[in-house]
Amino acid sequence: MFAFLLAVPALAADDESEKAAVMPPQAMHVIHISVDGLRADAVTRRSPEDLPNLYRLRNEGAFTDNARTDFYRSNTLPNHTSQLTGRAVLGPNGHGWTKNSDPEPGETLHSHHGEYVASVFDVVHDNGLSTALYTTKSKFVLFDQSYDGVNGAPDLVRADNGRDKIDRFHYDSDTETVVDAFVRDVEREQYDYAFVHLRDPDSAGHRFNWNMRSGSSYLSSIERVDRLVGQILETVTSTPGLAGNTVIILTSDHGGGGSFHNHGDPAHIENYTIPFYVWGFGIAPSELYALNGETRLHPGMSRPDYEAAGQPVRNGDAANLALAHLGLPAVPGSTLNAAFDLRAFRADDIPSPSIAEETREAPDTATASAR
Ligand SMILES: [Zn+2]
Repeated sequence: MFAFLLAVPALAADDESEKAAVMPPQAMHVIHISVDGLRADAVTRRSPEDLPNLYRLRNEGAFTDNARTDFYRSNTLPNHTSQLTGRAVLGPNGHGWTKNSDPEPGETLHSHHGEYVASVFDVVHDNGLSTALYTTKSKFVLFDQSYDGVNGAPDLVRADNGRDKIDRFHYDSDTETVVDAFVRDVEREQYDYAFVHLRDPDSAGHRFNWNMRSGSSYLSSIERVDRLVGQILETVTSTPGLAGNTVIILTSDHGGGGSFHNHGDPAHIENYTIPFYVWGFGIAPSELYALNGETRLHPGMSRPDYEAAGQPVRNGDAANLALAHLGLPAVPGSTLNAAFDLRAFRADDIPSPSIAEETREAPDTATASAR
């Protein structure tokens, strides 16, 4: 059943959904960056001179400063699980992972949920493409454990690439070390989908609070993150194989400061308001709500639940947004952006079908030789 689900793109029959399911221009690589504890206004209260690289993503890309975390939880591991699986934390379709500490050895998303929870890694890997996860918190071993050679689902899509869905898992608590490793590695091997987690704003926030005053540790940590994002941008634009065909998605698991030295209250605006930036190949410079008037509703200061008629842009949209740009089907079992209806491109900008097909085949070849 898994294979059938994967093989069918997320298309629906009625006019409205068909319009929404127009595929974006085909990118070869997606780099999905999550900046832990990044408040959207920690960027907008600063200037482009302070944060040149985050502003570059905003100015050249499609962005919003008013995306939402998961409705139920505004903490790290549950929200990253949403970002990687395209599911809410709770509810009938939720992934169900509410713990925010290191998992027990052998504990997986599936053992906890009672059935397999597929992720963006499943779809990319099973289609013969390469994946990586670079993280600065040890609890992300949850994903390595869940999608390793034992606990990952059998690959039933085309060639069998084995059960291990994450080709490279790299953890170090030091953010600069992780980004150095990432840029060094991608110069050698251009992963088709890579996830990079940067912890610094969250760490500064817990220690010194989400202090928005000039010179605070929290704001300094974002300048450091900006430099690291700049390192990744520089690598993308200067590395043959990545330049001109890569999409970067940058968002956060939660903001912070709505709770004392914390972000645990999911009903507090400072915790649930996060940025969502999309930059790179085929991306239209735009504000995401302006571009997605038919499928997303700017939430103002509110916190819509999953039943609300107008849904906000959520960090959990990222998994399927990445897959849409890679020309792959949605994550099986996902509900957030499962119809690929969050657009970061203009339909007029889509290349002709022949060009799209050519680029579609390229990642397979590249991956085969890289293995
Ligand atoms: Zn935290």
